Amino acid sequence: MLAYRYKGLKEMCLEEVPEAECEGDDLLLDVVAAGICGTDLKIARGEHRLFQGRVERTLGHEFVGRVSARSARTGFVEGDLVAVAPNISCGRCFACGRGKYNACENYESVGLTMDGAFAERVRIPARAVEQGNVLRVPESMSASIAVLMEPIAAVLRGVKTLQLRPEHTVAVCGAGPIGILAVAVLSTLGVHQIIVSEVSASRRAAAVSFGATATVSPQEESFVERVRELTEGNGADAVFVATPVPLVFQESIEGTAVGGRINFFAGLPNDRGQVVVDASAIHYRELVITGSAANTTQDCRDAMKLLESDPQRYAGLISRSFSLKEINAAFDMSASGEALKVIVEI
Ligand SMILES: [Zn+2]
Ligand SMILES: [Zn+2]
Repeated sequence: MLAYRYKGLKEMCLEEVPEAECEGDDLLLDVVAAGICGTDLKIARGEHRLFQGRVERTLGHEFVGRVSARSARTGFVEGDLVAVAPNISCGRCFACGRGKYNACENYESVGLTMDGAFAERVRIPARAVEQGNVLRVPESMSASIAVLMEPIAAVLRGVKTLQLRPEHTVAVCGAGPIGILAVAVLSTLGVHQIIVSEVSASRRAAAVSFGATATVSPQEESFVERVRELTEGNGADAVFVATPVPLVFQESIEGTAVGGRINFFAGLPNDRGQVVVDASAIHYRELVITGSAANTTQDCRDAMKLLESDPQRYAGLISRSFSLKEINAAFDMSASGEALKVIVEI
């Protein structure tokens, strides 16, 4: 079968590989659609910690597939359309004990630690099936929309830390694919005011089309002043930081209202993770700074429900779909920064 593999040393290759095999209670899926994520681009650039040296693996962790005849098993029948929560936890370590399955010490993930879905078929280990990682796609939802479940689950995990109420004002810093997904999610949740700060005019316009109520152009105006202007001088109730720029992390604290919450969603490069923050502001204004990374199966379930409640809002997030044979072009488009979500249909 055809598969798009990381070959080590920053090389990606679409090649013929032996058929994915399943053993015992594994589930084999015929891949229908898979999304390209910032993580995939990071792997392709050779910058991902799990892909150092000569690691060879098929990428693709945001995907939807049909249960293959070769593996139909309890609970699923041939042809069922399913989306997969890719992160598999051990259930025994300290992080799992705290319910932080996404931070599992023995973390495995389809498309990261094992072969993923940029291929004609993908194997889902029995352990993942037993843990509930395989979710049926609702009949009303297309496969391409269901591909968004995984990235939305990550955004939703970050948004949950903000403890929002409908009357809140939220500032989203950065309107790349994740920032835009956050705007769409906040909008679906009925958040009253969504302010988006983004340097690119076209991305600001995209943010408005997904539900932003105001935008800030941070190279031309002060993010903090503009947020205060829009909130009677109070600042935002919550700030979602979706861009890996240290100054933005600093400003997010200044732009947050008394008692407000901030989520550091974006990850900074490993060797440049330090940011200077105003501890006095956190102290006197009783701010809560939170972080979030990846997602759990429960986040994926919640994301699927959110998508189901408003699928049309999310349709516009998919900029373009390519065939598996065109996957190099799909990666190029995704890396260009011009697209929101690029998917591969197989
Ligand atoms: Zn991803
Ligand atoms: Zn664990």
